Amino acid sequence: MVDKPSKNEDEYFGKQNLEIIHEMRLKLDAERRNAERKAHHNKCPRCGADLKEQHAEHVKIDECPECGGIWLDKGELDQLGRVNRARGASGGVLTSLFRRRG
Ligand SMILES: [Zn+2]
Repeated sequence: MVDKPSKNEDEYFGKQNLEIIHEMRLKLDAERRNAERKAHHNKCPRCGADLKEQHAEHVKIDECPECGGIWLDKGELDQLGRVNRARGASGGVLTSLFRRRG
């Protein structure tokens, strides 16, 4: 008798290796995604500069000092709109934003 792994054993270990490789790939993908997210956190999605936090009428906005883009978090546009309506067009939040910049 020759002590040699059977074909079935070869297949078994081959399959196990594939599973390990697959798991490693999933883990690497997840790590890459996390690193990418971290790298983009609080960066302007348009030009990549660091966003500066600004406050306009109790609403926090993120403004890009490089390209001038303004980014709002979820719900902040509603909040701005509500303050705007309560004040009327001339005293609204957007007006005070523009005033700040002029
Ligand atoms: Zn920008």
